Amino acid sequence: MWAMSYGSSSIAFDTLQSCKQHEPYVCSSYLDKIKNVKLRNIFTKLRLGCNRLNAYSHRDKTDCDHCNTPETVLHMLFTCNLPKLKSVRDNFLNQIDSKSPTFAAMSITDKLSHILNLDFDNDEVVKLSCSFVKNIYNLRFNRKEPITQ
Ligand SMILES: [Zn+2]
Repeated sequence: MWAMSYGSSSIAFDTLQSCKQHEPYVCSSYLDKIKNVKLRNIFTKLRLGCNRLNAYSHRDKTDCDHCNTPETVLHMLFTCNLPKLKSVRDNFLNQIDSKSPTFAAMSITDKLSHILNLDFDNDEVVKLSCSFVKNIYNLRFNRKEPITQ
């Protein structure tokens, strides 16, 4: 029994590896780069627009409570003026600009795409991006429980 289940999971693993080799976009890279399940869920919710931000909530109010502009993922991560979010963002941008010179030159939508896809070769930049998203998300939704990477 053990040998059988090991055998089948081994085949599945080989298939996955070969799928990555031939179709690099079939397997999403952000899932591979995030080990923590809660953090993966946060990334997935933000990527799918399936989250509690006002712009996706299907209620009458779609604007940010603080800024009176639609509260999208882009707004929460990059343009919200709420001081606690701005402070985390400024700190993140200072750090990432020194580690990834190309990031600073990107448009805001490219920055968002790179972060939500964790499309970085540098592990340090991936970790920095994960903790940025986690911290902003926790601050926005006042989550008390820490999420470790
Ligand atoms: Zn705002």
